[in-house]
Amino acid sequence: MPPHPILSDPRNNRGRRFPIAQRDHLQLHGLVHPASPLSLHHQVAFAISRLRSLPTPLAKYEYLLRLVNSDEQLFFSVAQSHLSAVLPFIYTPTVGDACLNFPTLDIPLRGVWLSLPLSGAIASVLRNAARKNNPDSPIDVIVVSDCQRILGLGDLGANGMPIPVGKLLLYSACGGVDPATCLPVVLDVGCNTQSVREDPQYTGIRSTRVVGPKYDNFIDEFITAAKEVFGPSCLIQFEDFANANAARLLEKYRKSVCCFNDDIQGTAAVAVAGIMAAIRVPGVDPDLRNHKFLFIGAGSAGIGIADLMVMALTRLDIPEEQARRQCWFIDSKGLIVQGRGSLSEAKTRYAHPCPPGLLPSSSSDLNDVVAALRPTALIGVSTIPGIFSQHVIQRMAAINHRPIIFALSNPTSKSECSASDAYKFSEGRAVFAAGSPFPPVQLPGMLKTLVPAQGNNSYIFPGVGLGVILSKARYIPDTMLLAAADMLASLVDNSKLSVGCVYPDLDGLLDISAHIAHAVCQHALQLGINGRDVSSLDVDAIRGLMYKPGRDELSV
Ligand code: NAP
Ligand code: MN
Repeated sequence: MPPHPILSDPRNNRGRRFPIAQRDHLQLHGLVHPASPLSLHHQVAFAISRLRSLPTPLAKYEYLLRLVNSDEQLFFSVAQSHLSAVLPFIYTPTVGDACLNFPTLDIPLRGVWLSLPLSGAIASVLRNAARKNNPDSPIDVIVVSDCQRILGLGDLGANGMPIPVGKLLLYSACGGVDPATCLPVVLDVGCNTQSVREDPQYTGIRSTRVVGPKYDNFIDEFITAAKEVFGPSCLIQFEDFANANAARLLEKYRKSVCCFNDDIQGTAAVAVAGIMAAIRVPGVDPDLRNHKFLFIGAGSAGIGIADLMVMALTRLDIPEEQARRQCWFIDSKGLIVQGRGSLSEAKTRYAHPCPPGLLPSSSSDLNDVVAALRPTALIGVSTIPGIFSQHVIQRMAAINHRPIIFALSNPTSKSECSASDAYKFSEGRAVFAAGSPFPPVQLPGMLKTLVPAQGNNSYIFPGVGLGVILSKARYIPDTMLLAAADMLASLVDNSKLSVGCVYPDLDGLLDISAHIAHAVCQHALQLGINGRDVSSLDVDAIRGLMYKPGRDELSV
């Protein structure tokens, strides 16, 4: 018996919730059960208990992805009403497992792979994708990855599809962007990880990555085609490109295309918001100008955070050169200082004279660097697990009453330290945030339970994306990300800060996104880069425009 078409249409399928009238009209009686329709509320509760009962994160991932591909309204109702419970299974950390195990996953993923052999035909492929995904509405946002640097896991080639798929689920779950207007894209341009490429189940092209003009031309064809097919206001988010390409492509397109790179700019806004909230924690110096940031890792994330931090500092009337001197970097070769040969342009900007007391030979030892530099904050974006050792944390705690320690590397297995180690080795004084979620920590003899914050990019990009889509911003300047960071930091209340938590509750993300979208619209208006008049859009009006699953089912 062939299935009824509406039951295999995830956007319109209501499964066991189909009201009697619709069952009459669509001749669905007997094809869905029970005879009296279930409520959305009932099904959400069931889905959550089912999710909790599944044994592994990957099983939960598969369950959720199957749900979105069979009953979109139910999936987004579950996600929007239980965000903090669902988020870790549709994005970090589980999405890393999904990419690593991609060939064995048995789930449909609604994305488009643009493989190198399709060069010359990208526009027509994108038209296919648009028709398949939603014949009636436009694509407003694309998340695109070439998958060369998936989280901290390296080059996973075409197996990286869960990344753009997951990011776009978050656009809808956290930012109220209609899922029908979202398109995940993987650029299948080779893979340098031999074990991935040679896996018999691998579906990407089986060669090492194309580089140079061939790569650049392919990207260029994709960008041009996306603008041609979906219009110039379609937002393009770059995701998980390797460091060198990430910065280069952003520089190339940022002024002419409505685009941003979440690993660079989204991360920057989240981290800077976390720092701006951290300086409000009692015991932390409240003046940003007195802080010294030591970044461990000088890749997309680290340089992006520092650049935005410099912008935040220059607003306080600090000359740019001086602001940069508040940011120091360690990369895989040690402390970045003047005279250390062959540094990239970005690293050169943060190469300062070697601090007194530090010999070049000891500049790769984090402990020695901390002792010599006396930073107020450590920001880990190195992908090196455990690099914030007991000694390093103890030294930070000896120098600072409340040391700021952000261990942002993802997934959890890559974190520079765990929340409990940060607290334990600082006697509960660290102001800690991580890239992946860590449970609250109760230290022996301490009354307060400490709540580690998760510096999740989901605090920023869905709201920025929504604001950009609503305002039809022509491009996305860094000042717009700073406006988003300001808004996010302002939403952290004192009760959170008192337990050391520098971000608001993830469960409030839809509302946070509405506020950030409002800040973004206002900023676009101020700069005159809006393509649509959003002057009368207040936060309430934005809430009303956000995608809300089950809106038409409330009476069922
Ligand atoms: P990336 O561009 O590959 O940069 C990694 C950096 O780490 C490079 O500068 C590398 O040095 C450095 N590094 C490697 N080994 C090191 C060592 N032993 N000591 C010090 N530095 C070392 O990656 P990315 O995009 O910046 O991301 C880094 C991490 O941050 C990833 O795990 C990612 O998941 C995480 N992240 C978290 C968030 C978040 O929490 N919201 C957001 C974005 C990214 P070289 O330059 O010498 O190679
Ligand atoms: Mn990323």
